[in-house]
Amino acid sequence: MFTEGSPNWSGRENLHSVKSYGHPLGVTCADCGHCALVPLHKLGHLDGNMASIKSLKLVCQAYSSRNWKATLFARQHEVEAFAGRPR
Ligand SMILES: [Zn+2]
Repeated sequence: MFTEGSPNWSGRENLHSVKSYGHPLGVTCADCGHCALVPLHKLGHLDGNMASIKSLKLVCQAYSSRNWKATLFARQHEVEAFAGRPR
């Protein structure tokens, strides 16, 4: 699991990386802590897309904030743990 801002986050993660991980993109609102999983098919064209993950226009549904952190998942159990986090 790679979360933006953590030591294992390189800052070079792009939309193609999201696709290659093969799991939904985890998004956490930095203002209210609301977290959501965004299915890959909602992220548009990912294959070979070297645009930054941060180029996505995501808005927190609870707080209307655009201040979000991305999480990439390597394993399914990480996705489940993220989804089951208290909101
Ligand atoms: Zn929020």
